[in-house]
Amino acid sequence: MEERPRVLSGARPTGRLHLGHLWGVLANWKKLQETYACYFFIADWHALTEDPRKSLEFRTLIEEIVMDWLTAGVDPDRAVLFVQSWVPEHVELHMVFSMLVHLSRLLRMPTLKEHVASLRTEEFRGTRKGELDRATREAVQHVLQRYPDLVEHPDRQSILTAEAKQIFLQTLKDAVEDEEEELSYGHLVSYGRLGYPVLQSADVLLYRPRFVPVGEDQLSHLELTREIARRFNRTYKTRVFPIPKPLLTDFPKVPGTDGRKMSKSYGNTILIGEDRETLEKKIRRMYTDPQKIRKTDPGRPEICPVFQLHRMVTPEGEQQTIAEDCRAGALGCVVCKGMLAERMEAFMAPLRERRLALERERDTVWDRLREGTRKARALAQETMRQVRAAMGMPEPPA
Ligand code: SF4
Repeated sequence: MEERPRVLSGARPTGRLHLGHLWGVLANWKKLQETYACYFFIADWHALTEDPRKSLEFRTLIEEIVMDWLTAGVDPDRAVLFVQSWVPEHVELHMVFSMLVHLSRLLRMPTLKEHVASLRTEEFRGTRKGELDRATREAVQHVLQRYPDLVEHPDRQSILTAEAKQIFLQTLKDAVEDEEEELSYGHLVSYGRLGYPVLQSADVLLYRPRFVPVGEDQLSHLELTREIARRFNRTYKTRVFPIPKPLLTDFPKVPGTDGRKMSKSYGNTILIGEDRETLEKKIRRMYTDPQKIRKTDPGRPEICPVFQLHRMVTPEGEQQTIAEDCRAGALGCVVCKGMLAERMEAFMAPLRERRLALERERDTVWDRLREGTRKARALAQETMRQVRAAMGMPEPPA
């Protein structure tokens, strides 16, 4: 495996994964492991930047995420799977790099600005809750007056309320993000959170990979990694670090059961290996085209999340028939959801079976992780040996 170019990617332990992860990141990892020497890690140190008490849940969260990786087909015989905090060299290299990055560079990171804007919006949500609720109620009433059909649909009203509130908060967040002041938010950001892109650079460069798979939104972090690699090489007149290239990846947008992007924070997910009963219930309650109230109303499959999920699991010919019948008012949403539930169950059953088998073999899952960590650590130690040598530092005792 080692002759192949190395690729590194990680994920925070956030609990069970859903179909958005399966058809996005994990499908990509599955492809990458065929061509590259892949190192996939659980970024547990990073999870602490959200909440330092998260560590209390790590045992369960790590186990859940690795079982989902394996269920999805990430293969520990092809890729090295490991836990970030089990390789202490991550923290060591982070320390070296933290001397090479200026504070002003970190304060300009777009992801920090976004993070601060979210925290300040949360502060607002807590302190001005009454005003926010009143403005949301008024906006929803205004919409209901214009579209009285919605009054008969309390489920759609609650989505409308949630969306209106989200729009208010997003507008506020955008305004805060555009503010120029720096450090006025020092009380909201920990030292660890500020330095997290530096730790991320250490995570990557420790394995001296040729490529890092990233979405557009993560390019700024990889750019910092490349800058740090160049700065280290220049400072110590060495070539220890290659300059990793982005492997730009276009992740498909998977809709959640309410039509928004599938995300744990929206509570609209379908889990990898979801049990049959819950799966059917979630599909039955899915949001559809709001203009299609009766079977005979012409629908718009292109904006309907049920149809977007059909696209992922239903054969193409059948998809076309569904779209045509929906538009012609010949197919009702209840039947259409029933068809999706059947297709989804056929897709989910083998995944569920694989996951249940892994749940019976939890010790083996941890063994694979320990095995991967040993391999990752050997490479990390070799990098640190080269780093210390380039810096002219004395060798520590073996
Ligand atoms: S018939 Fe199917 S595709 Fe058309 S709106 Fe209803 S659920 Fe969506």
